[in-house]
Amino acid sequence: MNENQREFLENCKKNNVIGKIQINHNLSKYTWFGVAGNAEIFYMPPNIEELAKVLEINRDKLPVTVIGAGSNIIIRDGGIFGLVIKLGKEFSQIKLHNDCIEVGAATYDRVLSNYCQKNEIGGMEFYFGIPGTLGGAVRMNAGCYNYETKDVFIKAKCVDYRGQVSEISNSKELFSYRESNIPQDMIICDVYMQKKIASKNAISLKMKEVDDQRKKAQPQQIKTAGSTFKNPKDQTDKKAWEIIEEAGLKNFELQGIYFSSKHSNFIVNNQTKSANIIEDFGEYVRSDVKKKLGISLNWEIKIFGER
Ligand SMILES: Cc1cc2nc3c(=O)[nH]c(=O)nc-3n(C[C@H](O)[C@H](O)[C@H](O)COP(=O)(O)OP(=O)(O)OC[C@H]3O[C@@H](n4cnc5c(N)ncnc54)[C@H](O)[C@@H]3O)c2cc1C
Repeated sequence: MNENQREFLENCKKNNVIGKIQINHNLSKYTWFGVAGNAEIFYMPPNIEELAKVLEINRDKLPVTVIGAGSNIIIRDGGIFGLVIKLGKEFSQIKLHNDCIEVGAATYDRVLSNYCQKNEIGGMEFYFGIPGTLGGAVRMNAGCYNYETKDVFIKAKCVDYRGQVSEISNSKELFSYRESNIPQDMIICDVYMQKKIASKNAISLKMKEVDDQRKKAQPQQIKTAGSTFKNPKDQTDKKAWEIIEEAGLKNFELQGIYFSSKHSNFIVNNQTKSANIIEDFGEYVRSDVKKKLGISLNWEIKIFGER
């Protein structure tokens, strides 16, 4: 145990912190790629008060990283210094209010979609196909088939890295393509979503459409993180997968990492040695596309940790 870890544990003990704290905790099982380094300190808070308490105790001493379902991240082999937060199952409650739905940020998108179908609330069908949590969906402005999180988001209750709780409301500037401008030092805890009444049949049909389209266009049951690169809308109308194919990289492989034959922007990880190789694969693709086509591809996947 190092000095950071010892001091952190002592402070948590002094302040009667509740929740699971783990030291040098391997994060492989928290990422869809299935390979990752360790968290120096890993904490799963049971509620917003304990989360705020821990962040206040830490108060900028150690860097903080938050992860959701790990469906859009690479965690490098050297692991993440400081405190890694993952909201526990206690943050997965859904409450129906008169004018909105309140959703815990650890709720899986698919669970929300199913809940809304049951309760005849429209507009959340697109979440049926996205494998992340609501916190990740808000951070990434996740979406598909012309729907995005920004279309249904009202506001979120967040805790910043110093333990201050605040609310952030939707605005024109808050979201853009696969990004949100919610400050990087905010942990999204509770999300308020629009409640539009719709018929169960109509909702079921839309969910089926989403599911069918996804099964047709995307690989299933593989180690991936979804779209690797954003569509470079500022440079071309072509999608990232088209650009990858045009650059002749559809069948490129690096030590067990390759693109899915069903979707040329989905990386398949078929090895268990290293997360760094996945990043190397992506960086090779970026530089080769730049060299051959002059297009800059930017990562949609978020990359954390040390090499
Ligand atoms: C098979 C597959 C299909 C996919 N299809 C789609 C798709 O159609 N559309 C789409 O948009 N995405 C898609 N994705 C990508 C991914 O599912 C989404 O980006 C999802 O919203 C990420 O959520 P997550 O909980 O997994 O977040 P993570 O991957 O764990 O984290 C992603 C980012 O969100 C941040 N974050 C997570 N939780 C919080 C929180 N509570 N507070 C603050 N920040 C947080 C993390 O710090 C990180 O920056 C797909 C991924 C896979 C594997």
